[in-house]
Amino acid sequence: WSRSQQLLERARRVLPAGVASNVRAAERPFPLFFTQAEGAILTDVDGNPYIDYVLGQGPLLLGHSHPAVLAAVEQAMRRGQLFAGQHELEIEVAETLVRLIPCAGMCRFGMSGSELVQAAMRLARAVTGRRRILRFEGHYHGWFDNVLLSVAPPPEQAGPRECPRLVPGSAGQTPGVQEDALVLPWNDLTLAERLFAERGREIAAVLTEPMMCNTGAIPPTPGFLEGLRRLCDQYGVLLIMDEVITGFRLGLSGAQGRFGVTPDLAVFAKAMGGGFAVAALVGRRDYMERFARDVNHSGTFNGNVVSMAAAAAALAELERDNGAVYRHIEALGTMLMDGIRALAHRRDLPVLVQGFPAAFHVAFTELSAIREYRDYALHCDKERYGRFKVALLQRGVRVLDRGIWYLSAAHTQEQIEQTLDAVDAALAEVQ
Ligand code: PMP
Repeated sequence: WSRSQQLLERARRVLPAGVASNVRAAERPFPLFFTQAEGAILTDVDGNPYIDYVLGQGPLLLGHSHPAVLAAVEQAMRRGQLFAGQHELEIEVAETLVRLIPCAGMCRFGMSGSELVQAAMRLARAVTGRRRILRFEGHYHGWFDNVLLSVAPPPEQAGPRECPRLVPGSAGQTPGVQEDALVLPWNDLTLAERLFAERGREIAAVLTEPMMCNTGAIPPTPGFLEGLRRLCDQYGVLLIMDEVITGFRLGLSGAQGRFGVTPDLAVFAKAMGGGFAVAALVGRRDYMERFARDVNHSGTFNGNVVSMAAAAAALAELERDNGAVYRHIEALGTMLMDGIRALAHRRDLPVLVQGFPAAFHVAFTELSAIREYRDYALHCDKERYGRFKVALLQRGVRVLDRGIWYLSAAHTQEQIEQTLDAVDAALAEVQ
């Protein structure tokens, strides 16, 4: 890793922390620099190959440099990049999203999940005439001030569960952003019911990841999303699903199709672009039409040719052969999840693997399930996972520090077997 280390020194002089995004924690022992990526394999500047389970933090559901996506982008780009106006690809991608996603009556494009979460909240406030947004502990909805607030986790210091203590997520934030936020633990419908009974008429929207992916891979407990849907209907609140990670990763109709609960609005990004920057806000037609009247949302690069060509090609690949991509990921991911469980069991190590084959979480914990953020914050040994992650890196397997593993259509059975060999050795190292 000597060349990576040299580049990091150079990078630190001009880039804070030496990286373009806030991935310091994700890049222990230090950020690696890469020169080449293809399929499921990344190669660093020192020539080391890695089987990649980071996948650009999720978007590369088809793997790195998918030939059909690259060809579509190149072909479209030659005809022009930015029309600052309409072009047919934009309609085509919107039509596909409206056909596939249950809640999608209409759609607006943008460049990132963070942006379109903001547009969704603005629309919900316009529709309801209310301000407050209810969110859940441990969910991430982008880097903007009003959603970056987090909660103080240690329960021995925290107040009653009804009112988790909000703490600003960043220096430079104004305290005012706390005023419009309500935060509850995930998967606790009783607390949500209590809060709605008290303040339901102040709430514009419930904003939730349909499966919590940023701190653990925590599926909704049966009835939880249905319960939120019911409360939203009862109190005139919009249900917004942040499908930035789950969208297209958990299936062609998103997590909302998989779990059978339809929100009013949903944000998609990451996987829909095949590795290129594109995001979409979709939702009920009558609400979305407000963008044509009195709700502002714009962006110079929204709907640009490169993003739309990439999305059109990626979506076509995902739909090919009746979802062959999903069957492949399901089979290999199951093999990997079961394999990790078996190896840990053989060594008598307390390892929990939970989630879905396309996105699952590995944690060192005695818990039999992680159901909410505090389980993750308090009962998962993140220091040990950090050492495990470095031991994997040394054996040619790259995973995120947070414990979430992403799979792609490009992973092969052989790579899964190699990964399990690396996992076995890494577990031995952290035993
Ligand atoms: N929502 C969720 C659930 C996310 O995981 C992320 C990014 N990791 C975002 C929103 C923000 O999306 P972006 O990074 O594209 O702005």
